[in-house]
Amino acid sequence: MAILFILVFWSACIACLWFWKKELFIATWNEAYFADTPLLIESDDWGPGGEFHADRLKQLLGMLARHRDAVGRNAVLTADMVLAVPDLEKTAVDGEYRRKMLDADFPVIYQTLKDGIARDLLTPQLHGLEHLNGAGFARLLRQNDPRLAAAKSSSDWWDWESLDSPLQGHYVDGSTLPTSQLDSAEAQNIVELATASFQSMFGAPSVSTVAPCYLWNDNIEEHWNTQHISAIQTAGYRCTGRDRSGRYLQDPPIIRVGTKNRVGQVYLVRNVMYEPVDGKNTVAGALAEAEIAYLQAAPISISTHRYNFTRSETECNDAIAGLDQLISNIIDRFPRIRFLSSAELAESLLDRSPEVINRFNEKHWPGLTMAGVHRKLGAFLYRLYYRHRKLALLGYATGLCFPAWIICRTGLKQR
Ligand SMILES: [Zn+2]
Repeated sequence: MAILFILVFWSACIACLWFWKKELFIATWNEAYFADTPLLIESDDWGPGGEFHADRLKQLLGMLARHRDAVGRNAVLTADMVLAVPDLEKTAVDGEYRRKMLDADFPVIYQTLKDGIARDLLTPQLHGLEHLNGAGFARLLRQNDPRLAAAKSSSDWWDWESLDSPLQGHYVDGSTLPTSQLDSAEAQNIVELATASFQSMFGAPSVSTVAPCYLWNDNIEEHWNTQHISAIQTAGYRCTGRDRSGRYLQDPPIIRVGTKNRVGQVYLVRNVMYEPVDGKNTVAGALAEAEIAYLQAAPISISTHRYNFTRSETECNDAIAGLDQLISNIIDRFPRIRFLSSAELAESLLDRSPEVINRFNEKHWPGLTMAGVHRKLGAFLYRLYYRHRKLALLGYATGLCFPAWIICRTGLKQR
């Protein structure tokens, strides 16, 4: 009798929840759920730099080569590429912004990147033509702005990462705050030049991209779309600018994997932070984030910037050892891990093709398996639980957490 009462009560609760949150439930159910877990290693800011960066990159790729996924593929780094840096001398002489290009002016790094592509250890993805706003940079140089003093005094290569943070945005001008948007002609110009340069350097177009400092807007998305960029990597939100105090302005503040924008481009989301140089996350912390993604049948997308590997040798060695341990732990702990680049994941989301194809070296791998109904139902409940605190509390208050827990745990044993 008591059991019957509980079942009737839970049914009534589910009916109420359905009327209250029907749209949310349908939208969440219609997201992508993976039986194989894609594991992406996203690393921003590779490109021009000191020649020692090439050795650091080789060390990192050497570590990735030692890992194998469920279909025997080695780990692959999605290297988010900066294609150029300012040519300070020419910019100072001409008064207009001038560039040094990755392929022509940094041949050792460029060749290491190409070797990584050929060995399927690295897949390039467009980050930006440069990691600053060229027009704003040239103007500050003309004005003798003290924020460019380090750049002007450098005799060898100069690291754009040393710029003030607002000056590192590419698709906004951060030379004064609040940031200002680029006019459409300037945006078109840099997107066209970036996509053409990328294709000429790497032999295939970048079908996906991630904006420097996560700063971009609708206008930039439209220019990307014109250049056949069909996927946008995010950190789970988009920032369209920075306010007077430098605070990032989020719009939209929440982006889910697989959501499409109004021109049909698909968004990807980084959900694991491994940035040891910042002291932001330990291996254990990153593994906990990876587990939350796995429970939700979502891709595990690790963010780990270049600077973790290009500062001191100790920091580089520690970062590589930590990433090595993180990847090992993920493979040991979660079944059916698949190493993928961001572009490959995007293509799998846009077109459930039977194969994963690396467009840069034409290597083919089996397509991803999507979750069956039982695994999907459990992962769906995990998504509601992790994203919506009120629903989680209601689950505890009504006791619905018990059947939900059983569905979730048994679902993990299914494909
Ligand atoms: Zn960046």
